[in-house]
Order: sequence, then structure tokens, then C-alpha cells
Amino acid sequence: MAWEIPLSDICMGDEEITAVTDVLQSGWLSMGPVTERFEDLFARYLGVRYAFAVSNGTAALHIAHRAAGIANGDEVIVPSLTFVATANAALYCGARPVFAEIAGKGDFNVSCEGIVEMITPRTRAITVVHYAGYPCDMGPILEVAGEHDLAVVEDAAHAVGSEYRGKKCGTLGDLGCFSFFSNKNLVTGEGGMIVTDDDALAERIRILRSHGMTALTWDRHRGHGHSYDVLDLGYNYRINEIASALGIVQLERLAESNRRRARIDRLYRTLLRNSDRVGCPFARHGGRSSCHIFPVLLSEDVSRSGVIESMKRKGIQTSVHYPPIHLFTYYRKAFGYGKGALPLTEYVGEHELTLPLYPGMSDRDVHRVVDCLNESLESERPAA
Ligand SMILES: *Cc1c(COP(=O)(O)O)cnc(C)c1O
Repeated sequence: MAWEIPLSDICMGDEEITAVTDVLQSGWLSMGPVTERFEDLFARYLGVRYAFAVSNGTAALHIAHRAAGIANGDEVIVPSLTFVATANAALYCGARPVFAEIAGKGDFNVSCEGIVEMITPRTRAITVVHYAGYPCDMGPILEVAGEHDLAVVEDAAHAVGSEYRGKKCGTLGDLGCFSFFSNKNLVTGEGGMIVTDDDALAERIRILRSHGMTALTWDRHRGHGHSYDVLDLGYNYRINEIASALGIVQLERLAESNRRRARIDRLYRTLLRNSDRVGCPFARHGGRSSCHIFPVLLSEDVSRSGVIESMKRKGIQTSVHYPPIHLFTYYRKAFGYGKGALPLTEYVGEHELTLPLYPGMSDRDVHRVVDCLNESLESERPAA
């Protein structure tokens, strides 16, 4: 259906069309020189030594966990209030994802206390998600990780451009993972990036991305070497030149589009300030947010599904971030999780609503969303 105001929207212009056309005319579409340039620019933007482009954000998370040495029998502490790929990454490596509680109804990020509670002798890593782009309080988390000798992976799929204490998200832990899926802040259709400052991790990522091989097809295309060895069980998680060309242009647009997102975020907060039935989390956080999505928390007397349906009838798309992972059928069956395991996560999972947010939204659109939300809340008010 055609939404009057969709949940998110991409922003592509003539520069993207030119960049893609140039690749098509270059005669080389698979990973090569355009990808190398995208990686260099991305690494420079984040202020990190290494960046490896991959086929999607899930592949980035998988390789990051492999590179960190996560294997059979290990445990990885992860939030449950995230996209399922965050936890699947540990499972792909044979490890057990152990879910930690969020900080609270005003901060949906995983809490350091919640993480500490879940540490066992089998814990090998902590994987955090900067929910909606609001940075996790990484100071104490990195301290705990240091004390217990745990790797820290950042799922920064929401957080391209976010900062914590002046440092870009994705560069705070050992490995940072990004997604360039169509609803993210930087879009290449499908695509992802892994970043690290560590030489040894970088070498493992480079190998794992392309079948564990010592040489790339591109290198052989250029006449560098004609044979290769296989050093590890790798994957074909390569990106392609078309996606990388889009990524270069999208990276140039990022600062401005994130600024526009931040203005929309502020306008929502202003318009919803006096609402007694709509709470805006992350009123305070430790840095700069990429403002990837705009989550609100509806009060308990509101039927969320009623509001979603009512908004839909008005042409406004909303969503839920997220149904908690530990309550999915597969995870319940595999690990015996049930309701009550993570009360705060489950509460937010039941009452959170995500409002439209994308750089192309006008202030009028934001006003319209809030007006429609208020009307929907009014019509959903339970009969007295
Ligand atoms: C989008 C997303 C992913 C997965 O990225 P893909 O590129 O779709 O594979 C992982 N984690 C989070 C939090 C995401 O939002």
C-alpha cells in the first residue's frame, strides 16, 4: 500500500545514479577498487584503522564473532530487545546467546548490571546494540569486559555516525558492525561493514570474508599471483562494486542527513513533551545519536495494536522495535526461555511504538504524525 508517511524512506539522487553508472561501465562489478575506496573513506570517517565491507550486516556480525574466536560451548551476552541477527551471530558460531536486561523504561539499551549478572566461566564476549542510535553507556561495559577478559562486539547497525564521549560508535569495542540495508541511515540495498583497530582481528576478517583464501579474485584479475591457499573455514560475504559506489555517495550525505534526523527527533520530543500517554525514552544519553528510529513508550492503558491499525487507516506506517528475541519460538525451544525472564525487555516489547523518521520528512509531516497519534490515542481510550 502507498503510505502517506512511511516508517522510513531512502534518499538517492543524481550522484548515486552517476556512481552506479560509472561502475557498470568500468567492466568490473565484483568487489574491487571501488570497495577499497569505500572502506578507506569509511575507516577515515570513523577514525579507525581497518574497515572491511561485506554483503550485509548479519555477515558482518557473523565474521566479527568468528574473528573474536567465538566457538562451540562459548557464551555471548547479548540484549534481547534487538533484531534477531544480533543473537543469531553467536549461534552461527556454535555459541549460546545469553540475554541481558535493558537499563529501564527510559533507556532501552542493555545495562551493565544486566550484563554482569549473566557472566559465567563460559562467557567469551559481550555484544551490545546502540538501540535507535543512542549510544550504550560503554565506559562501565568496557571496564567489566576488561576485568573478565571478554571481547566486545558493537552491533552498530542503527548507529552510523553516533558518538559516545566524542568517539564514534563501532570503534569503542574490539569490533564494530554496520548494516547498509534499505531502512538504515546509510543505504546500499544490501551491505555491511566491520571495523577494528586490531591487526590480528583485521587479518582474520580479511580471510573469513572470502572463503578463507589468501588472495582475492580481484588481485588475480590484476595479475597478482595465480594460486592461493585456504587458511580457515571462510564464506563468500563479499560486497560488490555497485553497492560500494552507492556507499561512497551515501557516506558523503550522512552528516547532513543525520543532522536532519536529529532535528526531527527534537521536534517529536517537543510535540510529545506534555503527553501523559506517550513517553519518549533516551531523554538523556552519553553522546550523539544517529537518530535511526524514533521509539516511544505507550502507557499501559493504550491498546498498541489499536493505535497501529488506526495510524494505518490514516496512511501512517508505524512499527515495533522489537519483539524480544528470547520469546521467539525458535529461541524458546532451543533454550527454554519463557515470559518473565527479562521483565523490562518484555514490558518495552509490549508497549513500544516506532514512529516514522527519515531525512526527507518535513516538519509538517512530523506534526501530522503527532496529530494522528493523538487522535488515535483518543479513539483508543478505553470506555470509562
Ligand atoms: C539491520 C540490523 C541487523 C542486520 O543487518 P542486515 O544488513 O539486514 O543483515 C543487525 N542488527 C540490527 C540491530 C539491525 O538493525
